[in-house]
Amino acid sequence: MTDVAAELIPYDDAVARYEPVIGLETHVELGTVTKMFCGCPTAFGAEPNSAVCPVCLGLPGSLPVASRIAIEYTIRIGLALNCSIASWCRFARKNYFYPDMPKDFQISQYDEPLCTDGWLDVTVDETVVRVGIERVHLEEDTGKSLHIGGATGRIHGADYSLVDYNRAGIPLVEVVTKPVPGTGANAPMVARAYVTELRDLLRALGVSDVRMEEGSLRCDVNTSIAPRGSGMWGTRTETKNVNSLRSVERAVRFEIERQAAVLDAGGRVIQETRHFQEATGTTTAGRSKEEAQDYRYFPEPDLVPVAPSAEWVEQIRASLPELPAARRTRLQREWGLSDLNMAALQNAGALDLVAETVAAGAAPDQARNLWLGELSRRANETGTDLAALAVTPAQVARVSELVASGALNAKLARQVLDGVLAGEGSPDEIVEARGLAVVSDDGALLAAIDEAIAANPEVADTIRSGKTAAAGVLIGAVMKATRGQADAGRARELILRRVTENA
Ligand SMILES: [Zn+2]
Repeated sequence: MTDVAAELIPYDDAVARYEPVIGLETHVELGTVTKMFCGCPTAFGAEPNSAVCPVCLGLPGSLPVASRIAIEYTIRIGLALNCSIASWCRFARKNYFYPDMPKDFQISQYDEPLCTDGWLDVTVDETVVRVGIERVHLEEDTGKSLHIGGATGRIHGADYSLVDYNRAGIPLVEVVTKPVPGTGANAPMVARAYVTELRDLLRALGVSDVRMEEGSLRCDVNTSIAPRGSGMWGTRTETKNVNSLRSVERAVRFEIERQAAVLDAGGRVIQETRHFQEATGTTTAGRSKEEAQDYRYFPEPDLVPVAPSAEWVEQIRASLPELPAARRTRLQREWGLSDLNMAALQNAGALDLVAETVAAGAAPDQARNLWLGELSRRANETGTDLAALAVTPAQVARVSELVASGALNAKLARQVLDGVLAGEGSPDEIVEARGLAVVSDDGALLAAIDEAIAANPEVADTIRSGKTAAAGVLIGAVMKATRGQADAGRARELILRRVTENA
């Protein structure tokens, strides 16, 4: 028995007896305007085979020229990941035949990557894990095959296949981690936290649109396990093209459960690529890697070496934006939040939303309360992300201002947000149209207060006897009479005064 175990080992049992080691290889499509070795546009969704030229079609006699901006982007990524930048390195030719690769080789980097030996810190369960970065290298993407006529969209059973070379030659960066041991039961979360942090970093650097669902960020997840305390590392599997953050976590988790079952049954884990099945959360066997493929790498003879000057690298370093980790530290300090509150904000996906709301004029506490309170509740109810709600940070900031100025109370603020989410317009338009404004006009309040006192004479007596907390009953009555629009603080003052006046 070597592969599929009939039963999985329950996760907690598996990680109690086996220690996982993970590793991640992330492919990042760079957001350059042109391809890696020619001037063809990289725009998504063009007519098939319309963004091609002799270079990216691999026609005889054409010569590639490396994109300076793609090299600069790769150096940016390397510097942000604390890597060393090679002062001299070469592209390599990776030889293999594939129909969507018109040259029959891919220009990549092999033993001379542009960036090496860095790290990225991620936090899981308030513990910082330093993920080592092995290398960051630059290569070109392949084209795309479309298999027509089959039921599955795969080549098996298809009547014929079409190839679109628009993607061939689009610059790709591959970020490869070192193996990450010692994460124990947290391994799946660490994998997810790493990809999340890397995505945020790449977005901050402005080098890619990092859309996992569109394939501009693709992840291969390596997982191995070995008996706890054995001091050994197990044989790893490589799960390919995992296309969401959640799937990264699920893929690691599943592989741990599956490999534990294989080892428990006396089998051995095969070194192979596996495919993640989104629908079931499982992985299935792909190509075995037991016999290493020989790609006959050699230095690409059509390209000059890449030799970024120290001055250029320092210029790029000086131009790096504030990175996500530094930004979080700064915001936490500015907003006066505890580590726990900051983690809650981040886990809810609300950090950027709150930052934008504060930038639009809201007080940090107010912005945080609205996004983590009322708006999180709405997002949960409708099963959407906070960021996908039909309300902008500027609108939330305006609601927050209206609350701070006393024009709205919490209840009215919720009604205004209702209106915004229902597409009724801006907060001010909704306040106007729905007649939502706090009544703090003494005349209007006193009429409601007198009615409340008349209807509850015994409560008035209780207040007169010194138990001012009883005023809450009368405030409730006033709120009801004004349909929630009374200024509760002002109503309380007036009730206490009125009760003693009428003694
Ligand atoms: Zn081209």
